[in-house]
Amino acid sequence: MNTTTDCDVLVVGAGPTGLTLAITLLARGVRTRVIDRDPGLPKLSRAIGFQARTLETLDMMGIAGRFLARGHPVRGVSVYIGGRRHLGIDLSYCDSEYKFILGLPQNKAEDLLRERLAELGGTVESGIELLDFEQGADGVTALTRSPDGTEQYLRAGYLVGCDGAHSKVRNVLDVPFVGQPYPWDWLLADTELDWDGAADQVHTFWGVDGQPVAFIPIDEKLWRVSVPVPGRGGQPPTLEEVQALVDARGPGGILLRNPETLTCFRCQIRSTDAYRRGRVFLAGDAAHIHAPTGAQGMNLGINDAANLGWKLDHVIRGQAADPLLDSYGSERGPAARQVLAFSDNMVRFAMEKSSLKRSTRMMLVRLPKVQRRMAQRIAQLTVSYESSPITRGHQVAGLPRPGQRMPNVVVRGGTLHEALRGGGYVLLGPEDGMGGWILVRPDGYIAAVASTGDRRSLDDFRSALGAYPLNA
Ligand SMILES: Cc1cc2nc3c(=O)[nH]c(=O)nc-3n(C[C@H](O)[C@H](O)[C@H](O)COP(=O)(O)OP(=O)(O)OC[C@H]3O[C@@H](n4cnc5c(N)ncnc54)[C@H](O)[C@@H]3O)c2cc1C
Repeated sequence: MNTTTDCDVLVVGAGPTGLTLAITLLARGVRTRVIDRDPGLPKLSRAIGFQARTLETLDMMGIAGRFLARGHPVRGVSVYIGGRRHLGIDLSYCDSEYKFILGLPQNKAEDLLRERLAELGGTVESGIELLDFEQGADGVTALTRSPDGTEQYLRAGYLVGCDGAHSKVRNVLDVPFVGQPYPWDWLLADTELDWDGAADQVHTFWGVDGQPVAFIPIDEKLWRVSVPVPGRGGQPPTLEEVQALVDARGPGGILLRNPETLTCFRCQIRSTDAYRRGRVFLAGDAAHIHAPTGAQGMNLGINDAANLGWKLDHVIRGQAADPLLDSYGSERGPAARQVLAFSDNMVRFAMEKSSLKRSTRMMLVRLPKVQRRMAQRIAQLTVSYESSPITRGHQVAGLPRPGQRMPNVVVRGGTLHEALRGGGYVLLGPEDGMGGWILVRPDGYIAAVASTGDRRSLDDFRSALGAYPLNA
C-alpha cells in the first residue's frame, strides 16, 4: 500500500465548508488536498440561502460578486395570521451592505466554489473516501479508498473533517454529537408555482389546524415549498401530497407544477464541543446540525471554515504558536450554540398551534428594536468573539468592541474587505476616520482597539499572537 506525504492540510469533504476551507488555505499558499467520497455526480439542491455575514466572508475571499450575479435577493419574511400579513423579519434592518438573503441553490454555489478552487490550482479528488486515521506528534496518517477499491495511506500535517452530518472523522475521534431528533420531518418541494406572491419575500401561512407551510423564493421562477409533517422516516413526498398540504395550510389557489426536486428532510438538532482533537478538526455539519428553518446551516459551516483557515495558515507558517488553533473551538462553539438556539426558536414559533400566541409574538416583533435584532441574528451578524482568548478585552470609548465583526468600511481608496484579501491583519487608524486604532483579524473580526496615542500596544498584542504581516 502506498503512502503519500504531500500536504499540510487534508480536507475531508467537498461541501460548502470543505471548499471554503480549501480556498482559504490555497489562497495563502498552504499545501492542501481535498477528498470527497462522492464520485462527482450532479447533486440535488439543499441549502438555498446565503446570509449577509456569509456574503461578507465571500467578499473577503474576493468571490462575492460571482454569487451576487447568479443569486436572487430575498428581503424579508412575511407571516400571515388570520388572513393578515405581518412583517416577520425585515432585512433592511441589517447592518451590512447585504440587506437580504441571497437565494442561490447549494449545488450552484458549490460549482462557484469549485471554480475558485481550480483558479487557485486546487482540485477535489472525487470518489476518495476516508476510512480511518491515526495522529502522531507531527502529523496525521489517513487511510483512504478509491472507487476501484484501492486503499492508500495519506500523510498530512492536519486533517479537517468537513464530512457532513454523518461525519466519519467525528466517528473515529469518538466524540459525542449531543442533541435529539425533532418529532417532525420537513417535506421540501423545489417547484414552480401558479401564484403572484412577491418573489422577494418568504411567505409563511398556517392552516386551520395550526400547521405551517412556507414558500421560499429560489429565483424568478422556482420556489421552495417547505412543510413540516410528523416524522415519517425520511420518505420523499409526491407532488400531489405536497399540493394537498399547500391547499390545507396555504391561502388557497396556489398550484404547484414542474417540480425539480421532492425531498424529505429528517431533522435533528445536535452539536459537539470537540472542535479540535490534536491535529484533527471538525467543521460545518460534522460539528452541528439543526432544522432548515431560518436558512442557517450552510452559512455556519462556511464561517467555521473562514475562522479556521487563517489560523491553520498562521501556525503552519510558524508565525503563531499551536494554541492559536484552540481558539477555533472556543470561538465557533458558542457561535454554533447561538445559531442553533435561534433556529430552534424559529422552529418552535412555526410549530406553535395557537394563533393567539403567534399574534402576540408578532406584536412584539413589530418593534424596530426587535426587528433589528432579528435581522442581525438571521444574518449571523451578531456572532462575536468578545470572550475569545485571542481578543484583547481592552475597550476604548467611541470605538467598536473588540471581538465584534468589523463592518466593511471604506479605507484608503478601497474597502476593508479588499484590504483583507491579502490574508493578513489590517490596522485601521485615525487617517481612516476611525477615531483611534482598530486591529482587524484576517477573518474580519476586531482583535483589539487602542486610542490614538496608543498604537504601540496593538503592535505588541499582534506580535504576541504571532508576527503575521499587516496587509495595510
Ligand atoms: C434538504 C436540505 C435542505 C437544507 N436547507 C438548508 C437551507 O435552506 N439553508 C442552510 O443554510 N442549510 C440548509 N441545509 C443544510 C446544508 O445543506 C448543510 O448545512 C451544508 O450542506 C453543510 O455543509 P458541509 O460542507 O458542512 O457538509 P456537506 O454539504 O454535507 O458535505 C459533506 C461532504 O463530505 C463528503 N463525505 C462524507 N463522508 C466522507 C468520507 N468518509 N470521505 C470523504 N468524503 C466524505 C460528502 O460526500 C459531502 O460531499 C439543508 C440540508 C438539506 C439536506
